[in-house]
Amino acid sequence: MLNLSVLLEDSARRFPDRVALVLGDQRMTYADLDAQSNRVANLLVSAGIEPGDTIALSCPNIPQFPVVYYGILKAGAVVVPLNVLLKDREIAYHLDDSDAKAYFCFEGTPELPMGEYGLSGFAQSPRCRALFRITTDPAAPAMIDGVGTLADALARHDSNFDAVVREPGDTAVILYTSGTTGKPKGAELTHANMALNALTANRLFDSTPSTHDRYLVTLPLFHSFGQTVTLNAGISVGATLVLLPRFEARAALDLIEREDITVFAGVPTMYWGLLGALDEHPVDIDRIARNMRRAISGGAALPVEILTRFADRFGVQILEGYGLSETSPLATFSDPALEPRPGSIGVPVWGIQARLVDKEWNTVTGTDQIGEIALRGHNIMKGYYNRPEATAEVLRDGWFRTGDLARVDEDGFYYIVDRAKDLIVRGGFNVYPREIEDVLIGHDAVSLAAVVGVPDDSHGEEVKAYVILEPGAQITPGELIAWSKQQMASYKYPRTVEFVDSLPMTATGKILKRELGRTPAAL
Ligand code: AMP
Repeated sequence: MLNLSVLLEDSARRFPDRVALVLGDQRMTYADLDAQSNRVANLLVSAGIEPGDTIALSCPNIPQFPVVYYGILKAGAVVVPLNVLLKDREIAYHLDDSDAKAYFCFEGTPELPMGEYGLSGFAQSPRCRALFRITTDPAAPAMIDGVGTLADALARHDSNFDAVVREPGDTAVILYTSGTTGKPKGAELTHANMALNALTANRLFDSTPSTHDRYLVTLPLFHSFGQTVTLNAGISVGATLVLLPRFEARAALDLIEREDITVFAGVPTMYWGLLGALDEHPVDIDRIARNMRRAISGGAALPVEILTRFADRFGVQILEGYGLSETSPLATFSDPALEPRPGSIGVPVWGIQARLVDKEWNTVTGTDQIGEIALRGHNIMKGYYNRPEATAEVLRDGWFRTGDLARVDEDGFYYIVDRAKDLIVRGGFNVYPREIEDVLIGHDAVSLAAVVGVPDDSHGEEVKAYVILEPGAQITPGELIAWSKQQMASYKYPRTVEFVDSLPMTATGKILKRELGRTPAAL
């Protein structure tokens, strides 16, 4: 039978002395990680946790995340990773919605502040069987009265544990999706979903025990991209995971150089940040290029401009993947064995089928047609936790509709046009913000752009661009609008351009378009 924790147990058996985790000067071997997660499993069992119970984990990318994650899985329980930036009220919502029976909560430090704790109600709830603070400084005074630390609890539990046997179709993880509309929903992912997706990622990256890769792990581990593509994929091949809890481009660049990183996975804004840092901060680029075998982008559209500049400067071709929390996440990938097609999200990965559908689930055919991507295969979630109606809206006969609009070329390569809900309808014409953003980024003065629809009396919606300029660029909004007008059809070009210093982003690097003009009611 399959338990996702097998990925760790197997590597710990094969490479006990290999370094599994690096954080600053700290090193943790595979044997240590395995033993520590056994202690977590023992502690949960002794607290009365049973197979199938849900356990919340709120923790940045520090060694305690994998320790607790695999410990929960070994106990046969279900991990509910929470975004570390959630506020008190939101944490309470997630704990209730997921029926959490235990909660591991990082306490926060000046360098890694936590939102709030959300513990007030939980500690008193009859559901609560265990509650622990994760601290990085054991001497720090308790910030939450009466709640013990994980470190103390682990010291009291044995380091041997036989993982509880689970069926491949049992739920392993519940991932709350970013919830651009409505309340966040928990996508229930099974042991088979998560394990097969991690192994598929390894195949695509050519990552094996003998390549002994060194991954930079800076995508948040509470999100599916970081969890599958860096944590589970890396652990399953005995890789060394170099943790960087908060992405900061210069720190990331230094670590890539100093730790001889071979695999980097990031969202497009991270690549954009690395390119900017390289301009200002000299590093041994030959050493970086010699070591880095794979650069993987996902989570949002990768502008072709960033792909080209990264290949020029770092000597590595970024491979773009696509997926969602509901799809474990890897669904399509620009297979390195095939000719690269910039701007494409590649082809469906092993075991996954894709097609384009209209609103009524009819298949859309023809290479110039746009439809919503629907996916079927081993990576598709069971459904949204306790939400049969929301599940029925997106899952039919094993097919999952993604909400992403795309077209497909004659060779089966998919190209995302936009999110269905980001589509701007201007005077009856469909405008896809991503297309406009790509054009704007092509202008020498533009560093990054985000395009949204804003309410407009005569056209229903009007196209507006928020733009971050390149340092020292001399251009006015009017000049940029005039230039855009020459580049695209008249219904598409932005009528308003606003220069900004930064764009609001989620913890996973997606630009929060909701906060940029579009009212939630319009979504
Ligand atoms: P999440 O569930 O937070 O992982 O968000 C999934 C969404 O991210 C998808 O529905 C897409 O809209 C977006 N996304 C992921 N990968 C890509 C990509 N390569 N290109 C464009 N959008 C992407």
